[in-house]
Amino acid sequence: MKTLYNYTLENMTELFLTMKQKPFRAKQVFTWLYQKEVSSLEQMTDLSKDFRQQLQNDFTIDQLTIAEKQVSKDGTIKYLFELADGHLIESVLMVHDYGRSLCVTSQVGCNMKCDFCASGLLRKQRNLTAGEMVNQVMKVQLDTAERISHVVVMGTGEPFDNYDHVMEFVRIINHPHGLAIGARHITISTCGLVDKIEQYALEGLQTNLAISLHAPNDEIREKLMPINKKYPMDVLRQGIATYIQKTNRRITFEYIMLKDMNDSIVCARQLAHYVKGLNAYVNLIPYNAVDEHGYLPSDDEVVEKFKTELLRFGINVTKRKEHGRDIDGACGQLRAKRNEGM
Ligand code: SAH
Repeated sequence: MKTLYNYTLENMTELFLTMKQKPFRAKQVFTWLYQKEVSSLEQMTDLSKDFRQQLQNDFTIDQLTIAEKQVSKDGTIKYLFELADGHLIESVLMVHDYGRSLCVTSQVGCNMKCDFCASGLLRKQRNLTAGEMVNQVMKVQLDTAERISHVVVMGTGEPFDNYDHVMEFVRIINHPHGLAIGARHITISTCGLVDKIEQYALEGLQTNLAISLHAPNDEIREKLMPINKKYPMDVLRQGIATYIQKTNRRITFEYIMLKDMNDSIVCARQLAHYVKGLNAYVNLIPYNAVDEHGYLPSDDEVVEKFKTELLRFGINVTKRKEHGRDIDGACGQLRAKRNEGM
């Protein structure tokens, strides 16, 4: 059965028209789902019994069950969810001083095969529906009884390899009658599917874009990220420049610091050269070691020197704070463990 979380307001309006219902019913149902946060159709008391029955025949609301939950000392909560078909996915809640941010999964597994990442240990099984992404937000919000103010699509999966569903998801959580999460509080992270970056630029959304760069040149990036063969760094840079020009938005480059791999001063200079002239900043990410891959995080002093070198070239740079260090922090780790044990 389908979940009502799948529908943008426009799609729900159309759906209800086919069910011979007035267009405003969609707004009513949205209010029940996202403002009143009900999890059963019976609770939607201002809909006629007949219509409720009709909906119940074809639709559910909540389709996720919590298979496991790990709570960190710093407030980070890692959820392992079971989908209706038995697949397992992860979401991570992070508590910041500015609000509560949820890291959402977009696919079951991932096909991008980045060499350092735990998600790719299990190949893509399928795309998530928009409803399954919305469901992650709703489930965590209900479980914690606190509003989620920020969403990052940085969980397992490549969001631009599931483009249409991710766009629907963004429109549902952003809509004033939906969860009303501000576009500037929503971030999509991609490994660099340039055709989709260019498409995304035309959506008219004020959301944020993050690019997983992780390397300062093609030689290193190709070793780390197979996608670089299809879209080498100059092609990627061109796509990003187009995106920035069309949207007038600043982008983020994510750069995992990997010991003796991409963390030298020469790398910092090459990276500075690449980023220079783009409305972008660099976020240096501490690597969460994945046993199977053999990469190690860079030492703190090395990260500090790398950062100083970028600053010297006038590049805006931040270091990402680690969350949930005491729980299985890295993307896909909880899920990978579970699947091994099955
Ligand atoms: N496919 C998308 C989104 C999912 S990955 C993308 O590539 O951006 C989200 C981010 O976490 C990416 O920057 C990814 O490279 C990074 N990441 C993956 N494994 C990691 C690890 N073990 N430690 C730190 N960051 C990791």
